[in-house]
Amino acid sequence: MRFLEAEIDLKALNHNFQRIKNIVKSVDPACRIIPIVKADAYGHGAVEVAQFFEKQDIFAFGVAFFEEAVALRQAGIKSKIIVLFDREVEGIFEYNLTPVIFDFKQVEALSKEAVRRNTSLSVHIKVETGMGRLGIYDAPCETIRKIAQLPNIKIEGIMSHLSEAKNREWTAEQINRFKEIQRCVKALGINPVFHITNSDGIAYPEALFDAVRPGLMLYGYCQNFDSDLRPCMTVKTKMVDIRKLPAGSPISYGRTFITKRDSLIGVIPVGYADGYFRKLSNRAWVIVRGKKAPVIGKVCMDLTMIDLTDIPEAKVDDEVIVLGESGNEKVTAYDIAEWAETIPYEVLTSLGSRAKRKYI
Ligand code: PLP
Repeated sequence: MRFLEAEIDLKALNHNFQRIKNIVKSVDPACRIIPIVKADAYGHGAVEVAQFFEKQDIFAFGVAFFEEAVALRQAGIKSKIIVLFDREVEGIFEYNLTPVIFDFKQVEALSKEAVRRNTSLSVHIKVETGMGRLGIYDAPCETIRKIAQLPNIKIEGIMSHLSEAKNREWTAEQINRFKEIQRCVKALGINPVFHITNSDGIAYPEALFDAVRPGLMLYGYCQNFDSDLRPCMTVKTKMVDIRKLPAGSPISYGRTFITKRDSLIGVIPVGYADGYFRKLSNRAWVIVRGKKAPVIGKVCMDLTMIDLTDIPEAKVDDEVIVLGESGNEKVTAYDIAEWAETIPYEVLTSLGSRAKRKYI
């Protein structure tokens, strides 16, 4: 059987959560945390990650879509779940979920359903401040006033989203727009939880408001500030074959690599179907016996070739670290993102379901 494992370090997850908590609570002890566990907790396994956070002091979980929330409920998660990007109506009540409202018609339908069921529903309203994605953009305060008058709807939160948190000036502009909405909402006599920031914005005390929504930072990466985080995920595989090839041998599809010397070529059972991007061809390296082994030739769907000529002690079945640390070497999601010309988010969320998750 092929060995491809994503080892998820729950101690690292806890460390990162405590770091976020310390940063946030040092500014405002009342500020709450909404762990973002969408996209299978950025590839780390949403159920296991949520089970871990359920024992911590959190305000709610954030997921993208209804189905993700259902999977958590079916696994026994009892905490509040905020559904960020979905128009689901009936299921919201059936699974006791908290929808994010980004459109008046959406909340009207929820209000009607709440009346029909003779119950009330807490919602968070998303407002546009400069992300240009989802959120009430037309007279937000007036729309919030109208939503507040809908039967059986309780406005529990008002939120927005930062589009470029690394840019402090632009973020300040978004925060100002959000604050303006906050002032207006408070004048209506409504006092919900306000939240706008993702991981990168946690660096700015003025971005925290009543709650923060970290995703990437929980999993050990933050692009905006040095926050003493520990990556939670290590991806390991085992060498499937080692071959001695003479100088001049083509390697993989398209013959983009030709050996320049007599070479020792390793074959590892990970490929683009596992989220090991084709862009990594001839650019990346992995770790074998604590040493760097360059990826050579095109990454295939299930297999990748590596140059072991400088690691002659390597053996079939050796452990190969694709993402993580071994000896003095380390491959991070930043490295893979740079090689593949993408962002660490895509690296983590692309890891395929064929990689078995193991929790340590
Ligand atoms: N909030 C919303 C609405 C998001 O879409 C995301 C992620 O994309 C997050 C929070 C978490 O962002 P990050 O992973 O940058 O912390």
